[in-house]
Amino acid sequence: MKNFLRGIVLKVLYPLLMFAGAFLKDRKDTFQLFIIDLNNRLVRAGARGGGVKKILLLLPHCLQINECDIRITHNIYNCKRCGRCGIKDLIQIAEENDLSLFIATGGNLARRIVDDVRPEAIVAVACERDLSSGIADSYPMPVIGVPNERPFGPCLNTRVELTKVKEAIQFFGSSS
Ligand code: SF4
Repeated sequence: MKNFLRGIVLKVLYPLLMFAGAFLKDRKDTFQLFIIDLNNRLVRAGARGGGVKKILLLLPHCLQINECDIRITHNIYNCKRCGRCGIKDLIQIAEENDLSLFIATGGNLARRIVDDVRPEAIVAVACERDLSSGIADSYPMPVIGVPNERPFGPCLNTRVELTKVKEAIQFFGSSS
C-alpha cells in the first residue's frame, strides 16, 4: 500500500507540482523538497527497511572540491583521501557498509549505473531538482534522497550531512 501511495506521489503528484512550478518558479525548489520528503517518509513507512543486502550510494560530482584535479567521475576510488572534501568520508562509509558507490554526473548516467549495479535500494545525494526527478525515474525502486548543501551556490563545492547518509544506509539494513 505504501509503495502504491509512493507511485501516486511520484507519477501523479510530482508531475502536477512540476507543471505548477513552471508558473510559480520561486516555489519549484519547495515543491521538489516536498516530494523528496514525502517519498522518504513513505519508503521509511514501507516494509523495505532492514535486511537489504545490495545498497547503491549515488553521489553528485559537485561534492568534490573544485581545487582537486583528480578524476573521480569514472572511478571514485581514484580519490587520494586527503580529506579536503567529503568524498573521503563517503568512501569510508561505503567501505564500512559494503555498498556500491558511484558518482552520477546526470540522469542518464544515474540510470545506467542503476541498470548495471541492480541494487535493492538506493541512497542518493543530489540537489532537489536531480533528486526528485531521479527518485521518480527509479520508482518502484526504494530510494532515500538526501539533499546536498550548497553554501557556494549550485554545483560548486557542495556538502552533505554524513549523519543523514549513514542513517539512510542503516535504515535499509547495512552490515554496520
Ligand atoms: S578527498 Fe581529497 S583527493 Fe579525494 S576528491 Fe576530495 S579533495 Fe580530491
